[in-house]
Amino acid sequence: MRLLTPSCPKCGQQAVGTGEWVPATALIELGPGGEYRHTGQTSLHWNGMLSDHDLAPCLDLGSEDAAPGSVGLVCHSGHQWTSAEIETSVER
Ligand SMILES: [Zn+2]
Repeated sequence: MRLLTPSCPKCGQQAVGTGEWVPATALIELGPGGEYRHTGQTSLHWNGMLSDHDLAPCLDLGSEDAAPGSVGLVCHSGHQWTSAEIETSVER
């Protein structure tokens, strides 16, 4: 696969990864009266990880972001954009 837009449209840096979403549980401590506070620790549930592309319809990111053959990308500055993927043949 090849990316049609491999560099960030905002800053020009190359993509460093794909945008992913990981479900998590922010841990709390419960008091005797039901009061609680966050402990500052978070458990990540890696088996539930989904890509931007998988979640685009749920996040209302727009139909073009969920287009087949596209991928959500991220640069070093944290900017996010979507690029079409182009099928490349493997020559031997
Ligand atoms: Zn950028």
